[in-house]
Amino acid sequence: MVESSWPQAEPYRIKVVEPIKLLSRDQREKALERAGLNPFSLKSDEVFIDLLTDSGTGAMSDNQWAGIMLGDESYAGSRNFFNLERVVRDIFGYPFFLPTHQGRGAENVLFPLLIEKGKYVIGNMHFDTTKAHIEIAGGRGVNLVRKEAYNLDSEYPFKGDMDIEALVDFIENKGQENISFILMTITCNSGGGQPVSLENMQKVREIADKYKLPLFLDAARFAENAYFVKKREQGQKDKSIPEIIREFFALADGCTVSAKKDGLVNIGGLIGLAEEQEELYMRAKERLVPLEGFVTYGGMAGRDMEALARGLYEVQEEDYLAHRIGQVERLGKKLMEIGIPIQKPVGGHAVFVDGKTWLAHIPQEQFPSQALCIELYLESGIRAVEVGTILAGRDPETGKNVMPELDLLRLTVPRRTYTDNHMDYVAEAFRRIDNRREEISGVRFAYEPKILRHFTARFARV
Ligand SMILES: *Cc1c(COP(=O)(O)O)cnc(C)c1O
Repeated sequence: MVESSWPQAEPYRIKVVEPIKLLSRDQREKALERAGLNPFSLKSDEVFIDLLTDSGTGAMSDNQWAGIMLGDESYAGSRNFFNLERVVRDIFGYPFFLPTHQGRGAENVLFPLLIEKGKYVIGNMHFDTTKAHIEIAGGRGVNLVRKEAYNLDSEYPFKGDMDIEALVDFIENKGQENISFILMTITCNSGGGQPVSLENMQKVREIADKYKLPLFLDAARFAENAYFVKKREQGQKDKSIPEIIREFFALADGCTVSAKKDGLVNIGGLIGLAEEQEELYMRAKERLVPLEGFVTYGGMAGRDMEALARGLYEVQEEDYLAHRIGQVERLGKKLMEIGIPIQKPVGGHAVFVDGKTWLAHIPQEQFPSQALCIELYLESGIRAVEVGTILAGRDPETGKNVMPELDLLRLTVPRRTYTDNHMDYVAEAFRRIDNRREEISGVRFAYEPKILRHFTARFARV
C-alpha cells in the first residue's frame, strides 16, 4: 500500500479506456435548454464528468470481466449462483442467500414479510427506495440518526450512528408491539455516506434483543463502512476489513444489499439471512420467484452473478479502499481550500456542497443547489445532483414546498472510474464559479411532476 506521505497513485493500471468529450459552451447551453435546466434529462454523451451517482457506475476489473466469460446461463442451478452463495456465506457469514436484480428488488421481496400494517420501521436514516418500500408494505419509516448528522460542520466521526437514547424513547413511547423491525444503513447514504461504528451497532443489537425486535442491515456500502471503522474507531485498527465486516453482519438477523455500490458491478443485489432465519428465508424464496426470478438467478444473468462474486472480494482490499475513500476526501479538501462550504467529515462516496450557504443570495424557494448544478454543468460539463429542496417535494397535506434544513449539491464519485486529474478539474470548476457566484440566479419550476418531481421536472431562471 502507498504510504500516506506519497502521492496516492491508483492501485490499478488501465487496460481499457472509454473516451469522454467536453462539448463547447454553446453546445452545453443548448443541451441544458433542451433538458429543461434539469441535469437528469441530459444525455450522458452531453456530460464530461458524471458525478450524478456512484450506483452501478463503477469500473469492473479484468478478473471480473474474465468472470463474465464464465457465465452459466442455465435457468436453474447455474454454477455462478453456487459460487456467489459460497462467497456470501464466506464474507457475511449468512447461510441463506437470494440474488435480486438490485437493492430495491431485495427490499420488495423481504419487507412485506417483516412489516405489519401501520407499524414502524426504525432506521438511522432510510434511503429513498427503502422508505418507499416500507410505505408500500404498509409500514412507517422513522429516522433516528444522531443529531450531529444534521450539522454539516460537526467533525463527529460516526455521523451514521443511531441515537440510542432516541431509539429507546421511541420504542417505549410507541410500544414494542407497534414496531416491525430496526434497519441500520451502512454507510448512511442519505446522511452523506457517513459511517456507523461497531460500538453503536452493538448497542442497537442489545436494544433489539431487549425489545425482541429483528435487526437488519441495509448494506450497500458495507466495505466503505468497515474501512471507516478500522481507521476511526478506538480498538479496531488491528482488525482486518473482512473481520470487521463479519462482526457487523453477525450482529444483524439479515441484510438487503444493492450490489451496484460495494459489489463493484453495474447491476445486482442480494438478500442474506442468518442461521435462525430459515423460516423467513423459505417465505422470501416463495416471493422471489414471481417478483425477481427463479431462486438461482433472481433477476441476474449468470455472468453478472460471477462478476459480483469476484467484486465482493475485491472491494475488501485495503489498498483499494484507501484509494477510494482517499480520492473522495482529497476532492473535499480541495474544495475546502478554495473556501467552498461542504459537509464534514467527507463521506465515503460523495462530497456534499452546501449550496444554500455558498449561494446565500438565492432564497431557498429558488432552489440554490439546483441553480448551482446548472451553473456547474454550463461552466465545466460536470453533472452533479441536487439533494435538497427539490428532492424534499411538497407536504402531502398542505401542498406547500417542504423546506429542509439542508439544501446540498452532491458530487458522487464512481468507483475506479475517474482519476485525481478529473477531481482537480472538478475543483477548478468550483474555483471559477466562486469568483462570480453572486451573479448566479435562482430557478423556478416550469413543469412540476406530482411524484418524484426531481427526475423529470423542467425549470426556468427567475
Ligand atoms: C442504492 C441503495 C439502495 C437501493 O438499491 P438499488 O440497487 O438502487 O435498487 C438501498 N439502500 C441504500 C443505502 C442504497 O444506497
